[in-house]
Amino acid sequence: MTKKNILILSGDGIGTEVCQQVEKIIELFNKNNVETSFNVSHGLIGGIAYDEAGSPLPDETLEMAKKSDAVLLGAVGGHKWESLDIAFRPESGLLKIRKELDLFANLRPAIVYKELVSASSLKQELVEDLDLMIIRELTGGIYFGEPKGIKDLGNGILEGHNTMRYNSNEIERIARVAFDVAKKRGNKLCSVDKANVLVTTELWRNTVQKIGDNEYKDVDLSHMYVDNAAMQLVRQPKQFDVMLTTNLFGDILSDCAAMLTGSLGMLPSASLGSKDSNICSALYEPVHGSAPDIAGKNIANPIATILSFSMMLRYSFENDLLATNIENSIKSVLAKNYRTADIFKEGNILVGTNEMGDLIVNELKNII
Ligand code: NAD
Repeated sequence: MTKKNILILSGDGIGTEVCQQVEKIIELFNKNNVETSFNVSHGLIGGIAYDEAGSPLPDETLEMAKKSDAVLLGAVGGHKWESLDIAFRPESGLLKIRKELDLFANLRPAIVYKELVSASSLKQELVEDLDLMIIRELTGGIYFGEPKGIKDLGNGILEGHNTMRYNSNEIERIARVAFDVAKKRGNKLCSVDKANVLVTTELWRNTVQKIGDNEYKDVDLSHMYVDNAAMQLVRQPKQFDVMLTTNLFGDILSDCAAMLTGSLGMLPSASLGSKDSNICSALYEPVHGSAPDIAGKNIANPIATILSFSMMLRYSFENDLLATNIENSIKSVLAKNYRTADIFKEGNILVGTNEMGDLIVNELKNII
């Protein structure tokens, strides 16, 4: 039996409630001897960490994270901490942990469950059964490139500038993540760039192609300009399986793809670093924030966090079977018409956070 150490950082707001539902699943797995045993520890991050330890990412949390096999994060933030100096704000803790673990690849799936298809702003036939994955480079590109700043040109004119910079190592490592993910899915990868205008992304295209030719001949690789990709995402999203792109383009395209699903409470994500790293290089979290407006009321949708755990099983622990079991359990619960408030429609059965967690656990019990 293999043993995996998971660090859970529930954070603020609904983070605690949604992470508790994942713990129920882990407990079930541990009781049922599923070949892997999961050892869970907890740490502080975000506003609660500032309150209790004076920092949104205490050193102790960072050390625990580095030693774990994977981190599950709830959410951080809340009105209480909004007026703090930026270094002490909850969100700084999140940015710091991503940076310290060198998480350069952000994976965001957009899945449209049959039962929730009406939540999408697109026509049913365009999005029904949609299942695509956007992989965004997270630590390079124009958001980090130097030089950057605002220059006084004189005569009252100011000039802002940023630099889009990627070296071939950065492109190669994110390309390998994308090809590996494509191999776990439909063996199809579309790399998105603006190679006709931006030389940085000409290098991006050539480098991704080279990695494909040399290391992943079996993956069907294509390239698309970002303007066309944005159009195709809302025109015919099912043509895509895995999309790979830069930090800037990924920021925009992943939010666009997320909205195809129509529901924030259903969206998981993973941020991954190098597999060869000797510290933990995987953090899984829902896309949503701490939702202070509904925190502590047992109404938050826990599915995004549960799906983040299923991504952990698939991408960190190579356990596709348990991941698929979780995903199928969620589908069964939705097929039985149970919904949390955010995805509720007339005719559904309204349940709270805890009840949704219990229902998914009960379905899982029948499968594993
Ligand atoms: P949010 O994602 O927390 O909430 C936006 C809206 O969606 C709210 O109405 C909320 O009630 C709803 N919502 C979010 N998750 C839900 C769920 N699981 N189930 C049901 N409804 C859900 O975004 P916001 O309101 O802009 O930000 C609130 C706080 O969260 C801020 O402090 C922000 O900085 C922080 N934030 C943190 C993260 C993170 O931890 N990764 C991400 C985004 C925002």
